[in-house]
Amino acid sequence: MNIAVIGAGTMGNGIAHVFAMHGHKVNLCDVSDEALDKALETIKSNLWRMVAKEKITEDIHDKSLQQITTHTNIQEAVQEADLVIEAASEKEDVKLKIFQMLDEHAPSECILASNTSSISITKIASATKRPDKVIGMHFMNPVPVMKLVEVIRGYKTSEATARVVSDLSKQVSKVPIEVNDYPGFIANRILMPMINEAIFALYQGVAGVSEIDGIMKLGMAHPMGPLELADFIGLDVCKAILDVLHKGFGEQKYAPCPLLNNMVLAGSLGKKSGVGFYDYSEHRKAEVVASNFT
Ligand code: NAD
Repeated sequence: MNIAVIGAGTMGNGIAHVFAMHGHKVNLCDVSDEALDKALETIKSNLWRMVAKEKITEDIHDKSLQQITTHTNIQEAVQEADLVIEAASEKEDVKLKIFQMLDEHAPSECILASNTSSISITKIASATKRPDKVIGMHFMNPVPVMKLVEVIRGYKTSEATARVVSDLSKQVSKVPIEVNDYPGFIANRILMPMINEAIFALYQGVAGVSEIDGIMKLGMAHPMGPLELADFIGLDVCKAILDVLHKGFGEQKYAPCPLLNNMVLAGSLGKKSGVGFYDYSEHRKAEVVASNFT
């Protein structure tokens, strides 16, 4: 199949990697040349790591890279696509504009999927004249490793579209699980209140960072504690999703913790900014001093 991936950041490069590795032709598109160069470097090193671990052969490594071409022109990237997966920045205005362009330039039969973490698929679909062919395909980070694809059916998404997307997810060795389109879908509706509660516990001085993460890892068998996971996802992304839940349901229980708001305002966004609940400078991970959190 011809797959176009729009946005070559953390998620876009992982999605391109997975589809190319399973024999699909991938047009990877971003507004930034720098993001495209970085994405190709990341895909190369991640594929190479798989060769080193004997998960794929060198031949598959080489063929996968040949399947990917990069583009800065969206029209050129999607004109022959069977499926477009949008993984651009989590901003509603950006996504609505992209979907208008996709609707204009992609073939009429092409399915338009979004990897959004929280923006309404029904709203995104309303920017197109093919809402039956618009769907959520929510991959998890890191995409080459994580099995789940949360498949989100918008109000007008057709049965046929959901079937194609679920079948294709299986074909690239993922496990699709279908849900309906309400704020946060399922993954983030459950995950984000847990992360927010962990931040409230820290803010109220109930326990420190390593104690909260330690309890959830050892007691609940979570591979990462909630504060470490928040740093990994990005604190700005966590806040944006909680804002969507808060606004969408109109319930105070989803309001982001004041400490989370402060950290985002201060630019402490987690791993990507070098500091969040942990300090990632100098290639080490250390707990940030407790007085910063009260
Ligand atoms: P990112 O910031 O790493 O990458 C976004 C990319 O989109 C950037 O390279 C940017 O240049 C590009 N972009 C912005 N506007 C564009 C446009 N008009 N056309 C083409 N490219 C454009 O973001 P990310 O973490 O990869 O997230 C992408 C999407 O995936 C978001 O919707 C996010 O909510 C979702 N998501 C993220 C995670 C995660 O853990 N990071 C997990 C699941 C889903």
